[in-house]
Amino acid sequence: MNYFDLSGRVALVTGGNGGIGLAHGRGFAMHGANVMVAGRNTEKNAAAVKALQELGGEADSLVVDVGDEQSCRDMIEQTVARFGRLDILVNNAGTSVRKQPQDITLEEWRLVQDVNLTSAFICCQAAYPHMCAVGGGKIINIGSMMSLFGASFAAPYASSKGGIVQLTKSLACSWAKDNIQVNTVLPGWIDTELTRQAREQVDGLYERVLSRSPTGRWGVPEDHVGTAVFLASKASNFVTGASIPVDGGYSVFI
Ligand code: NDP
Repeated sequence: MNYFDLSGRVALVTGGNGGIGLAHGRGFAMHGANVMVAGRNTEKNAAAVKALQELGGEADSLVVDVGDEQSCRDMIEQTVARFGRLDILVNNAGTSVRKQPQDITLEEWRLVQDVNLTSAFICCQAAYPHMCAVGGGKIINIGSMMSLFGASFAAPYASSKGGIVQLTKSLACSWAKDNIQVNTVLPGWIDTELTRQAREQVDGLYERVLSRSPTGRWGVPEDHVGTAVFLASKASNFVTGASIPVDGGYSVFI
């Protein structure tokens, strides 16, 4: 038995057109899954689909703003309509507004919660009946080091990423009986579009991360492929409600 085989499985990755999301899609495609990529940018979507198709499986994309409830619900239904089922959901789309808390507007606060946390709840809720229909499923939520730590520039982001850990635990408890495993990945500092922006906005961030990483480097999206495949496959059937750091040791090092 190949514990990591994903043949015949269908995976949906929000924000799957780049960075950590695309790394998840690559892992799934390499192990036989069909992958639906959901993001706002059509050019990035098209490039991601091409990259995934080159790995062998079927892939397609949807233009989606996960900050909108109906978009999330339509995305789930369109994925099932396109591929016939839904086995794996990765709630990966994320954003941040980097300001001191006293300067954050309510609109900015709500945007970050909607994209990072509320969307995950809506997508999980919409995916649930489809996963039940195929006898189970795998949900991977993307947290952050800010699920564990705070930062002066990240009040909305850290709140949303703390929330995702608790959402994961609650869903794991509710849906274990349905053979749905729900876990969170906690990425360390990974070199992506999101953190390139962060490095421009936060002085000294690049060096600070290096100085407290025992591995002595920033992560790259490919560092997430292994956990993605593990959490999407039957290898993780007794793992649920967990938060797994993929951080080069950042969270255990002072
Ligand atoms: P990227 O900027 O590469 O990816 C973010 C993705 O989210 C993009 O694909 C983007 O697609 C999508 N996205 C953003 N807003 C929306 C929206 N409203 N609707 C639909 N899609 C949206 O960054 P990362 O790969 O780094 O980020 C992926 C996840 O990992 C995020 O949840 C982030 O918080 C988390 N993370 C990243 C860390 C890092 O160090 N890089 C550390 C900890 C957590 P599009 O451009 O098409 O809108």
